[in-house]
Amino acid sequence: MKLLITGMAGFIGHAVAKRLSGQGHEIAGIDNLNDYYDVALKQARLDDLAPCEDITFIKLDLADRAGMEALFAERRFDRVIHLAAQAGVRYSLENPHVYANANLLGFLNVLEGCRQQQVEHLVYASSSSVYGMNDKVPFATSDNVDQPISLYAATKKANELMAHTYAHLYRLPATGLRFFTVYGPWGRPDMAMFKFTRAILEGKPLDVYNHGDMSRDFTYIDDIVEGVVRILEVIPAAPESDTAEPAAATAPYALYNIGHGSPVGLMDFVHAVEAATGREANCNYLPMQPGDVPRTWADTQALYEVTGYQPTIKVEEGVRRFVDWYRDYYSV
Ligand code: NAD
Repeated sequence: MKLLITGMAGFIGHAVAKRLSGQGHEIAGIDNLNDYYDVALKQARLDDLAPCEDITFIKLDLADRAGMEALFAERRFDRVIHLAAQAGVRYSLENPHVYANANLLGFLNVLEGCRQQQVEHLVYASSSSVYGMNDKVPFATSDNVDQPISLYAATKKANELMAHTYAHLYRLPATGLRFFTVYGPWGRPDMAMFKFTRAILEGKPLDVYNHGDMSRDFTYIDDIVEGVVRILEVIPAAPESDTAEPAAATAPYALYNIGHGSPVGLMDFVHAVEAATGREANCNYLPMQPGDVPRTWADTQALYEVTGYQPTIKVEEGVRRFVDWYRDYYSV
């Protein structure tokens, strides 16, 4: 297959590209290599992919309409895995326009390219943050309980609506994946796993929000990648409609959670990092941050039903693998 992976220099994009390489596909990846976090880490991920002869990288901004049109005009893609986005809840409070450009305008450019080429399947990243303040657990897409409380989450919910619209109007098969707090080797420096490990190894205090009274459904990167790769094969079909009316239900559209399915308390997560590093954390307890939610918890049943797959890697094991990678990467 000819595949496009957006956000290929990112945490998840790099891992998905690496997993799909060597399987007979022709893979093109794009990324704007922005400086939201350490650009050297993004470059190192691309360097890690450089030996893969079936992968081509193009530096391109999603919001560059002419550039995106040229990409889709010059190359043919069978399937598109859209992972590029401006991520992060807290950053969206200070930089709302970045989110509108990357996640709304950028997403529209991806949809338009997919529509024009009539790609077989668009698989795109959504987020557990769309559930927001929902307190019906575990979180299930079928419950329609979304209560996003950050602009980041709102753009992800908007992506789901935009993709549904294109599925409905243009028969573009589209699957949204709500990822739950992803962690592991090559992870993001703005996320808890990375920050906690760095602080503990450097003997510095680490910030613990809501005084540690939070839980997250931490999901190991390999589990996310496996879910993405399997879902790529599950092209949603539009159900047959028995009326002339184009009912919403006739869109070839699907939405799944990819999460471990077992929330972990923030302090338990800190203890796992302590165990993996062999050092004690010096916690700086802080109040809840605006836009943050107290807990996330994925219902994994729908993913299991269509792929036969459920994330498996437990947090102690995943944290140990991250810390091993961190020590090796930074030689500490
Ligand atoms: P990441 O920031 O590491 O990767 C995103 C990549 O997209 C980056 O390399 C960035 O340079 C690129 N990018 C951003 N804006 C761009 C633009 N305008 N044009 C081109 N490239 C652009 O993040 P990630 O953790 O790999 O996340 C991948 C996707 O998964 C994102 O859509 C994110 O919102 C979503 N997600 C991630 C998590 C998580 O825990 N990591 C959870 C839920 C959802």
